[in-house]
Amino acid sequence: MVIEKFTNFLINNAREYGTSDIHILPNKENYGIYFRLNGRMEQQYSVSIEEGSRIISYFKYLANLDVGERRRPQSGSLSYECAKNEFQDLRLSTIANFQGRESLVIRLLEIKTEMILEKSTLLPQELKIMKKFIDYKSGLILFSGPVNSGKTTTMYELVRNRMKHSKMQVISIEDPVEIKEDKFLQIQVNEKAGNTYENSLKASLRHHPDVIIVGEIRDEETARMAIRGALTGHLIIASIHAKNAEGVIARMNELGISLEMLQQTILAIVFQKLLPIYCELCEEDCQIYCTHHSIHNKRAALYDVLTSEEFQKINRESVKEFKIERPRSFNQLLRKVLVYGFISEKTYYQYYIP
Ligand SMILES: [Zn+2]
Repeated sequence: MVIEKFTNFLINNAREYGTSDIHILPNKENYGIYFRLNGRMEQQYSVSIEEGSRIISYFKYLANLDVGERRRPQSGSLSYECAKNEFQDLRLSTIANFQGRESLVIRLLEIKTEMILEKSTLLPQELKIMKKFIDYKSGLILFSGPVNSGKTTTMYELVRNRMKHSKMQVISIEDPVEIKEDKFLQIQVNEKAGNTYENSLKASLRHHPDVIIVGEIRDEETARMAIRGALTGHLIIASIHAKNAEGVIARMNELGISLEMLQQTILAIVFQKLLPIYCELCEEDCQIYCTHHSIHNKRAALYDVLTSEEFQKINRESVKEFKIERPRSFNQLLRKVLVYGFISEKTYYQYYIP
């Protein structure tokens, strides 16, 4: 066994499964390697005593611990390069048993977030389109979907992605702030204290940021302000309640924004749902303890992206009837992932938009 290779495989494997800890523990005749998955230890591999101690020594060496010292407990940390330019922060701790055999527990600190979107998207094409629009200097991108469908995560990840290749100022206005992000200026709406969405958005526009994320457009003033921001050279990314992509247009109309006004500002309307993934092992939606799909991959997002191009073709009548013929509308894509075997038939009917 080439220790270096196995170590790399082990860390990447653990990341894929979304485990928080790897335990390398001595048994009577071998070493067991366990992953902690949702609080439970699951044995993944078993290696010989000799291989086990070599793996432990190698990790100790990487973390600058005393490799020769095997009896005293040690702890340390390192930033492990699991792939080119991709790092995983690890915390290590060793303890020896009465026979002088060491055990090692490796904690994987928060998995680097860049990979989240790719991994949790059922069909990559929509993600590609979203990434294109997120690079625009100005315009409006509206997100919709049920509560807990991962809208905030999608918006954040897309902006973080853009920030990787260009420095910019991002302001987020939310009620409440769900995800902490040091690189954004995060504002929490507090109606009682007078920090409404409207006020915060107004103040944010005076700050001239590149991107403003609006947690929710729920009143006319905020809707109007978002349009104004998009027209005055900002990229505005906001979420809004609607039952599908077409419903977003109707909702904005309700809030006093005309179709023509939207056509001038909209880059894309994204509607998303988080679907449970069908698992061959579980023979149904993947269960919490099953290791076939990692904790993060038991559900995945299906995105419906209505692009500005498609949007230009819309007229008032088609919006009223919610009838915009599109090859990649939500229900069409839902059908596709069913045919691909990504979801069960039960899920298909549950998530179909009537
Ligand atoms: Zn499963």
